[in-house]
Amino acid sequence: MHLIQIVMLVCVTLLATACGSGSDSADSVNSSSSQSSASSSSIAAAISKGIDPERFLDGALAEDISTVDCTLSDGTASTCYQVTINGAPSNADIGPFCPPSITSDASEGGIWFDGSGEVYELDGAFIMNLDTLYGSEWMLYDSVTGLINITDTQLACESAARPNVDPAYQNYCVECKLEYTGGPVQQTFLIPTQPVALNSPERLGFDIGLGLNGVVFAGPAPVDAILSNYTIAAFDDCGGHINPAEGYHYHAAIGCAQSEPESDGHAAMIGVALDGYGIYAMTDDLGLEPEGLDECRGHSDTERGYHYHAASPGENMFIGCYHGAQGDIVETRL
Ligand SMILES: [Zn+2]
Ligand SMILES: [Zn+2]
Repeated sequence: MHLIQIVMLVCVTLLATACGSGSDSADSVNSSSSQSSASSSSIAAAISKGIDPERFLDGALAEDISTVDCTLSDGTASTCYQVTINGAPSNADIGPFCPPSITSDASEGGIWFDGSGEVYELDGAFIMNLDTLYGSEWMLYDSVTGLINITDTQLACESAARPNVDPAYQNYCVECKLEYTGGPVQQTFLIPTQPVALNSPERLGFDIGLGLNGVVFAGPAPVDAILSNYTIAAFDDCGGHINPAEGYHYHAAIGCAQSEPESDGHAAMIGVALDGYGIYAMTDDLGLEPEGLDECRGHSDTERGYHYHAASPGENMFIGCYHGAQGDIVETRL
């Protein structure tokens, strides 16, 4: 189980708002309360709108959003949306991940990216070419049968999907099944109702936010560690994969989490970061990426306030850092 590492910053002089409703509404899990908090938050939208609970796709959430008191990572006393996601996409399938054989076409496998900018189709030809791409030690398939080495048991998954890979599973394509965790891993996020900008950006943790379709957005996949063990931790075509502790999570924005387009042609919203700022797709409806993004991949406009734009999948990240004080992940239920 993973816990967000929280860095406490001492100096925050800019408080966007204190919200001040004073309602300790941990038990108010009904849609009318979430709607009223959504409309009140959008009134204070001059700096940033934060999230709109209504944006989540049908089936993404395990329970209605409520508003609770919370303390942000910089010590700010605030209110947060308590959002429990189902941990499985409400609008897309999971997998496939590893192609079964060196004759498999792209439809039988997912994708791979290593942060170099490239996104590779995980087909048989890619597996056969790994020695050219990464070095002569790579051999992920049986040269007689053409079958690809895949972690196809819970033990194999757990032995290979960890930093200290069992040497027996070097030269494997790694995939895990949701049944190994007893099904989708529901996680509860506390997301600031009003984002609070930090004086300086902060490093991302493992889970950096959540998608509008109920899937965790993770920070960059540890591709150096994965590749140093001669493994490919396969992603599906949505940029997601499963590990035994976290369940299913995304490492890239590939269009599986987004809501309907923005009316002004701006890129579509895909999720929200742990600091409450919205995360939008990389490109707008003309296919253009905004210019002048900051190091966190954020910028501001009059309609949305401060918000992020996801990086391209080949960059192995959604955003670069946190612009604001973060909420927390309070519970993981298996
Ligand atoms: Zn991962
Ligand atoms: Zn924008």
